Amino acid sequence: MTEDYATCVRGCTRRCTADQCLTTGEHDHEPLRRRATVGLLCKRCDEQLTEAVHDIPDLWAQMPGLYDTGHAEGEKVSHGKVTGSPSLIRLDVMVLNGSSVGGQYEGDGVMPVWPTIGGWIQILAEELGTVAKSDTIAQWCDLLRRMHPTICRQPWVDEYWADMVAIRQALRRTTGAPPPVGRCFGHLANRPCGRLLYPPAPGETEIVCPDEKCGRRYSGAELLKLQIQGEREGVA
Ligand SMILES: [Zn+2]
Ligand SMILES: [Zn+2]
Ligand SMILES: [Zn+2]
Repeated sequence: MTEDYATCVRGCTRRCTADQCLTTGEHDHEPLRRRATVGLLCKRCDEQLTEAVHDIPDLWAQMPGLYDTGHAEGEKVSHGKVTGSPSLIRLDVMVLNGSSVGGQYEGDGVMPVWPTIGGWIQILAEELGTVAKSDTIAQWCDLLRRMHPTICRQPWVDEYWADMVAIRQALRRTTGAPPPVGRCFGHLANRPCGRLLYPPAPGETEIVCPDEKCGRRYSGAELLKLQIQGEREGVA
């Protein structure tokens, strides 16, 4: 069996449901690859990338402002609550801020956020002629969100995908962000919202969808519904 369609550039595979295989219980063929539906990416990779680019500025804003190398003037950095060993966290923060680029931590699975995203912004500028409004993570991600469909068609989208997903993960770890509660079931003009939503901030009783076009609020029974649905879908 071979695919007669363009497959996800990341080599994602899907479950085989061919009668023949299910009957014998054996798959005597190459793994089936997922169809590329958004540029060169499959639907799942597209969703994960969209999510990462959405989440990064939110998480970045929660980064403790201990080391602000790499922050442009005006970058909003609030002093987030950090859990865990302070020295380890600080090291993580430093590396995420790019203080040790070219230093001993590179390639250690920790992402220097600033230079990595900045590098992609530069590639976009060179290849697609785009210009960010300012050199802040928020503006950069705003540009990346707008360029998403075009980016998904570029031959380097797999590397970009890996960087953005790794940055989101590293930021989540460093900010001690709790796992998501569920996916927003608000509706935008032509599609369901679907943003991942996180527990209410300390002292808050409701969750507000951070999508600027959605902004759906969850409290009381709605919040419970979100939680149940989130558990069912295994979003965390
Ligand atoms: Zn099979
Ligand atoms: Zn994929
Ligand atoms: Zn929403």
